[in-house]
Amino acid sequence: MFDMPDYDGHEAVHWFHDAATGYRGLIAIHNSALGPACGGTRMWAYADANAALTDALRLSKGMSYKNAMAELPLGGGKSVIIGDARKDKTASLMRAHGRAVDSLNGRYVTAMDVGMTEADMETLASVTPHVAGYAQKGKTGGDPSPMTAWGVFCGIKAAVKAALGTDDLNGIRVAIQGVGNVGYDTALHLKAAGATLTVADVNETNVKRATETLGATVVATDVIHAVEADVFAPCALGAILNDQTIPALKVKVVAGGANNQLAKPAIHGAKLAERGILYAPDYVINGGGIIRVCGQIYDWSDEAIRAKTERIGVTLAEVFAAAKAENRPTHEVADRIARGRIEAASQKKAAA
Ligand code: NAD
Repeated sequence: MFDMPDYDGHEAVHWFHDAATGYRGLIAIHNSALGPACGGTRMWAYADANAALTDALRLSKGMSYKNAMAELPLGGGKSVIIGDARKDKTASLMRAHGRAVDSLNGRYVTAMDVGMTEADMETLASVTPHVAGYAQKGKTGGDPSPMTAWGVFCGIKAAVKAALGTDDLNGIRVAIQGVGNVGYDTALHLKAAGATLTVADVNETNVKRATETLGATVVATDVIHAVEADVFAPCALGAILNDQTIPALKVKVVAGGANNQLAKPAIHGAKLAERGILYAPDYVINGGGIIRVCGQIYDWSDEAIRAKTERIGVTLAEVFAAAKAENRPTHEVADRIARGRIEAASQKKAAA
């Protein structure tokens, strides 16, 4: 593991096996200097254990950066269960995973990711208290998507201000790829602020909802990135900013909620900067969801969670200003700030 390209000084990787249920999983803790490591559980039919480890290393590091940029008292972690969520999932297997999480005594707190449902989270919670990010009795929270969307909206405002010099979204043209949970709620906020919307989605029901309630123009999914607009907001897929799409962009800003938007960060982040397109780093702009999860862990009020989410706009404005001053791509600046915060916390912890 120490020689793998995705190993980044991770604190710990724990492997688990439960013979009775066939559970095989792992929990990666990238860094816990800022607080307990937090990130979702992903259940996926990995080709082999190396693929599962690679994913856990990459995703747990991503959570460290996301949590640091959202200024949360949380480190970065991620757990993966090796298996097909449609075929292999049983309540006893979920409980085995819950016991694995519990064995770390709160050093890792799990939320939801691909392959997990609210019901699964409840099953985990029946064996460990270190579970968050789903509707829990007596606690704020539940579905993190609305807060993610509110953060994305605040981030779009900050990006429009930096790129176009205006605080007013009235008449600003936004092309949204994917109007599911995050994309649709973001569209609602944009519409209320007077923006003009163009959308695309592979799901007909979601397209219909966007046209009927938002009056959005619909285009085909393979051309949404090439729409002439002010902002392109990817809210569906990863790796959407790539060799094919970047030359076709006709916007000044890319700012949306999808994870891992840059196909190859070093190459495609630089390409956007070369084209003079302002890119809002995905893990900064989509931090509202994890802020919601964190608020549930620490029992924050809805007001505090909302205020923290609105800070995303301020953080992005700082990233944009530094990128401009240093003539560097925005994703590089965000990575540097995140690493700096994690290193400072690690040194403080070591000194203590
Ligand atoms: P979702 O499944 O509710 O919505 C995604 C939408 O994209 C769906 O309507 C789907 O039909 C559509 N879509 C899929 N392929 C498409 C394509 N080729 N072209 C256009 N549309 C397509 O998911 P979500 O929760 O809204 O998440 C959207 C993105 O935001 C994901 O990348 C997710 O990882 C990221 N994200 C979500 C949250 C959250 O709180 N839900 C938090 C952080 C990041």
